Amino acid sequence: MMNQASAGHLLGLIRSGQATTRGELQRITGLSRSTVGHRLDQLFGAGWIRETAGDPVEAPTGGRPAVRIEFDASHAVVLCADLETRHARAAVLDLAGGLLAEHSGSLLINQGPDEVLDRLGHWFAALLEKAGVPASAVCGIGLSVPGPVDSRSGQVVQPPIMPGWDRYPIRERMRRAFAEHCHGDARIPVLMENDANLMAYAEQRHGYPDCSAFLLIKVSTGIGAGMVAGGEMYRGIDGAAGDIGHIRLSEYTHALCRCGSYGCLAAVASGRALAEQLTAAGIPTASGSGVRDQLSIGQPDAVRLAREAGRLVGGVLATVVTLLNPGVLMIAGDLAGPPFLTGVRELLYQRAMPRTTAYLQVVTSQLGDRAGLAGAGTMVVESLYAPTEADRRLTSAALSATQQ
Ligand SMILES: [Zn+2]
Repeated sequence: MMNQASAGHLLGLIRSGQATTRGELQRITGLSRSTVGHRLDQLFGAGWIRETAGDPVEAPTGGRPAVRIEFDASHAVVLCADLETRHARAAVLDLAGGLLAEHSGSLLINQGPDEVLDRLGHWFAALLEKAGVPASAVCGIGLSVPGPVDSRSGQVVQPPIMPGWDRYPIRERMRRAFAEHCHGDARIPVLMENDANLMAYAEQRHGYPDCSAFLLIKVSTGIGAGMVAGGEMYRGIDGAAGDIGHIRLSEYTHALCRCGSYGCLAAVASGRALAEQLTAAGIPTASGSGVRDQLSIGQPDAVRLAREAGRLVGGVLATVVTLLNPGVLMIAGDLAGPPFLTGVRELLYQRAMPRTTAYLQVVTSQLGDRAGLAGAGTMVVESLYAPTEADRRLTSAALSATQQ
């Protein structure tokens, strides 16, 4: 019994589908009818829930079906952006992850946070207009970035492929851009997370909701891993978990990595490394997405290099998989195609114990290029409507209403 259940707790029960009528909420929480009614009034007042007609099948005795209560996923929107090294994708999402407007285009991360976040502010303004949604309807902003994020400070820390972003106050700058270009509230919550973590979060919830240990490897310009354990992103103690691109391979001591070390996995098997190898072989290729283009037309050198890169990543993954024992290993990003997967499987199954890989599914992405956006949107919604945070927001909204 949760007889101290707050409005936020009731919202949690409604959103998870555990209780969708007043009667069920009373039964699960042990609260009286009037207390449930009072708590629900707070949620109705905020516009967060709505009533729908119940299904007649649920009233077998012929009485009136109970009115169902559901989360109103259209009462607010989330602005999201997925930043890559050379381009970005941004969107307006409803609270169920529905896409209301989307834009993707060139945005160079090495121009630094001030320039990039200001441009994003312009993109968001255009997207809100396209979606026909006022800035006041935005409940939060979610950012996916290609570097390690310290979840305590909300800063990017020593990102190898994001020059100029180390410990920059991203949230504050994003809020300012939102206020300046969208005329929105300068106190808007801004959340950010590493791209591989968000992709893993979205893909696990979308396609493998019952998988309690889910691992995603993103191989684009860099190489990163995201892990979802028990339905939650696993970040380690300060967000550095999963940065497997900088594990050293002893046999490649000549290969200089962007991080300054020699012999990193990313220096020989990432999209950037393959682009450089192709360019040196007389096939000019600019980046991970350029390698993807070559792979899509079956360019023989690209196919051979991708398979070899897959073998190198598979060798490292044998250790990773042995440690984590995941049910699903998803390969995503620019290189995630048959040649690379073939290489991964070759070394992974050769090097890992059969016991570790017996139930392992090695798969490719289901959400594709939108996985990062979907993860960013879900992160914002799950954070803002979690019981404690929901209660805090309800209280502060009520306070500002009485002060006006
Ligand atoms: Zn490195």
